[in-house]
Amino acid sequence: MQQVIAGNWKMHGMATELREIEGFAASVKATPPSADVLLCVPATLISRAVQVAAGCIAIGGEDCSPEIAGAFTGDISAEMLKGAGASAVIVDHSERRQYHGETDATVASKASAARRAGLLAIICIGGTNAQRLAGNALSVCGDQVAGSVPEDMTASETAIGYEPLWAIGSGHMPTPEQVIEMHAYIRDRLVARLGTEGKAVRILYGGSVNPHSARAILKMPEVGGVLVGGASLKALDFEAIVRAMPHPETAQALPNRITKSSQHWDTAL
Ligand code: PEP
Repeated sequence: MQQVIAGNWKMHGMATELREIEGFAASVKATPPSADVLLCVPATLISRAVQVAAGCIAIGGEDCSPEIAGAFTGDISAEMLKGAGASAVIVDHSERRQYHGETDATVASKASAARRAGLLAIICIGGTNAQRLAGNALSVCGDQVAGSVPEDMTASETAIGYEPLWAIGSGHMPTPEQVIEMHAYIRDRLVARLGTEGKAVRILYGGSVNPHSARAILKMPEVGGVLVGGASLKALDFEAIVRAMPHPETAQALPNRITKSSQHWDTAL
C-alpha cells in the first residue's frame, strides 16, 4: 500500500475554508503525489468537502459512534459518515480520550463500526510525557494496540496513528531513533494482534509534523505515512508535506515555507 498523508482539521473549518480544499484538489489533480491523501474534517463539512475535493483527495471524519442508529443525540454513526462521502475516520484521537473519557474498549468498538461501514479506521495511540519519562513509552503503545485494535481487522481497513501526546501541537518531536524504535515495536505488536495482516497495516507518525520533518519521517522504516493536525489547515502547508515524499522529482517541489524545525531532524534528512 502507498503511504498516506492524512490531515486532521479538529474543530476548525467553516464553509469558507472549503476553498483551501478546492485549490489543493486542483493541484493534486494536476500533479498527482505518490501517496494517498486524506483530509479528515468536521462532520458539518464532509459532504461539501467531498464535492470540492472532486475525487482527488479522500475525505474522512474525525470520530464516529459505535452504534448504527438510535437515541444517541449528537452522535454520528460510521454509516452516516460513509453516506456523506467519507472514506475514513479517525478513532481515538488522544483529545477524545482526554476530553471524553474514551477507553481502549470504546475505541475498539468504534474501529469495528468503521469496519462495518466500510471506512478505513485510523486508530490513534500514544503515551504522555510522564509515561515516556518513566520509560513506559513502548509498553503504553503496546497495550493500546492490544486493547484498541479489534483482532479481526485487516490491513486495508486499518491504519495506526502513533501520536505521542507531548508532540501534538507542541512543535516538539521524538528523535528519529525514537520514531524508528516505536514504529518497529508497533509493527511487532500488530503482527502479534493480527497475524500476517499486521505486517501491512500502515503506521502513521503524528505530532508536530511539518514539511521539513515530513521528508525525513517518510523515509523511515515502518512509517506508512503521517497524520498532521495544525499544518493541514492551510492548503499550502499541507501540500508541502504531501510533496515531501522521498522521490527526487516531488522533493524538488517542496516549498520553502518551513516555520518550525529542530536540529535532530535536520541531521536526519
Ligand atoms: C494531531 O492532532 O493529530 C496532530 C498530529 O496535531 P499537530 O500536527 O498539530 O501536532
